[in-house]
Amino acid sequence: DVAVVGSLNLDLVVSTAAVPVAGETILARGHRQGLGGKGGNQAVAAARLGAAVAMVARIGEDAAGSRYLDLLDREHVDRRAVTSGAGETGLAVVLVEDTGENRILVSPGGNAALSPADVTAAGETVGAARVVLAQLEVPLATVTAAFRLATGTRILNAAPPTQLPAELLDVVDVLVVNETELAAVAGAPVPRDPAEAAEVAARTGCRGTVVVTLGERGSVARTPDGRWWHEPARPVTAVDTTAAGDAFCGALAVELGRGTPLDEALSRATLVGAVTVSRPGAIDSLPTAADLISEGQT
Ligand code: ADP
Repeated sequence: DVAVVGSLNLDLVVSTAAVPVAGETILARGHRQGLGGKGGNQAVAAARLGAAVAMVARIGEDAAGSRYLDLLDREHVDRRAVTSGAGETGLAVVLVEDTGENRILVSPGGNAALSPADVTAAGETVGAARVVLAQLEVPLATVTAAFRLATGTRILNAAPPTQLPAELLDVVDVLVVNETELAAVAGAPVPRDPAEAAEVAARTGCRGTVVVTLGERGSVARTPDGRWWHEPARPVTAVDTTAAGDAFCGALAVELGRGTPLDEALSRATLVGAVTVSRPGAIDSLPTAADLISEGQT
C-alpha cells in the first residue's frame, strides 16, 4: 500500500573527544556501522507498523548494498525495485563529539543515480500504491516523476531542505517538514510556537496539506482551506531523537494509506515519533504495531 522513493545509506558513526582540524589526525574513541538513509528508515518504519511497503532505490554493488537488501528482506519491505549499479551505496559519516554535538557528511553514492527512468521501470509499484512517500536525498526530478506517476496520496518529506520548484510543489498532497525545514522551504524565520508554525505553513507554496513536526512540542497540520490544529507531543523521556522524523513520516503514510482521517493520522504519527525518541538507535528504535500496544499507547 505504501511505495517509498528514497535513499539507502550506510551510516558510519564515529565517537570522538574532539574533531580534527585541517591537516590533523587524531584517534577517535570508537565507531559503529548501521544502516540508515531517510528512505530506508521511513520504509522500515511503515513496514513495522503493518503496511505492505515497497522501496524504489539505488545501491552499489558492494557489501553495504547487500547488507541493506538483507535488512529489507528481514523487515518485509518489497525490494524488487531496488537496483544496483556502478558506484557505491550512499554513505553518511557521523562524527559525534563527547558534548553530544553531531557533524554529518552525506555522500549520496547510488542515491544520486536514482532516475526518473528507475521510477518508470518500477511501474505499478509507484502507480498503484495508495501512498507514495519521498524525501530529498534523491534527485528532485526523480521525486517529481514518481509523484506524476502516482494515483495515490503523495507525501513529500522535504528533508534535507531545499527550495522546491513549482512543478514539484504542484504534485504534492501532503508536505511534511520540521521547524528548520519549514523555515528553509518557506524562506521565513524558524517559528517560535505552533501558531506561528501554522502561519508559516501557509507560505510554502504547497497547495496541499502542510504538516510541521515540532519535536517535544508535537506537530501541527494546516489544510488547504486554511484550517489548522496542534497535536501536542506524548510526554516521554527522550533518550535518542535519531529517526523521530522518519518514524513520524512512515506512520503518517501508513495511516493515510488506510484511509484514516488526517487528525487521527497526525495523532498516531505523533505517538510513533514519541516512542521512537524514548529508545536508543536509529532503525533499531522504530516501533512495531505490537510495541505500541504493549506500551499501552494505542
Ligand atoms: P526531526 O527529527 O525530523 O527534526 P522532530 O524532532 O520534530 O523531527 O520529531 C518528530 C516527531 O517525533 C515530533 O512531531 C514528535 O511527535 C516526536 N518527538 C520528537 N521529540 C520528542 C520528544 N522530546 N518528546 C515527545 N515526542 C517527540
